[in-house]
Amino acid sequence: MAESGKLLADVFGYLDRLNLIGMSTMQVNDLVDGLIVNELKSRPASKGQYGYAYALNASRNHVVCHGVPSAAEILQSGDIVNFDITLEKNGYIADSSKTYLVGEVSPLAQRLVDVTYEAMWKGIRAVRPGATLGDVGHAIERHARRNGYSVVREYCGHGIGREMHEDPQVLHWGKPRTGLTLREGMVFTIEPMLNQGRAAVATEDDGWTVVTRDGKLSAQFEHTVAVTRNGVRVLTLRPGETLNRH
Ligand code: MN
Repeated sequence: MAESGKLLADVFGYLDRLNLIGMSTMQVNDLVDGLIVNELKSRPASKGQYGYAYALNASRNHVVCHGVPSAAEILQSGDIVNFDITLEKNGYIADSSKTYLVGEVSPLAQRLVDVTYEAMWKGIRAVRPGATLGDVGHAIERHARRNGYSVVREYCGHGIGREMHEDPQVLHWGKPRTGLTLREGMVFTIEPMLNQGRAAVATEDDGWTVVTRDGKLSAQFEHTVAVTRNGVRVLTLRPGETLNRH
């Protein structure tokens, strides 16, 4: 799992160096697909899963998650776009996502992205043996609400390992000291989606793309984490990230 996570972190390091302005989300997909297969000798785990054909989801602006890459979707300065990528190496899967700021974005968009990132880290830092999934969800939801944002309820984190989606479900809201008690060795994702407006979402006619019902912005970040003896290890930790700074 750690090897898969490290390789996936490298994919985001590559994305970090791209100038996204003027690129289509399909171009980004194709670059990531080639990197994973040819350079990292790994497999984009989303390809073929649930009939999906691509190496990533690209979710831009009011798209909450599961956006499908398109040659017609050209990234422009002012957009925010989440790339959600899964990578399998030696039979083990890692899952991570990051919302990118394209060029110059509005202060309101920047703030949503910043708070969503912080909310993910609040959840991650709640992970330790003896804590509960309710503790994790509560930490995320509290940070979102304090900043005036809503948390999407239809989609959640999940156990992960040999399969992309395993038990348990990891909700991004909850009550302290409720839910499953965490134990050393558990591996799961934390991937909150925060909305500028209401929490309500809808699925578009393509059967994939999930959007905010009110058309306002949504942001997401995701890491795959492992419960350790004393706390948490972020298996998909990216260059420049540390557990304690956020
Ligand atoms: Mn996930």
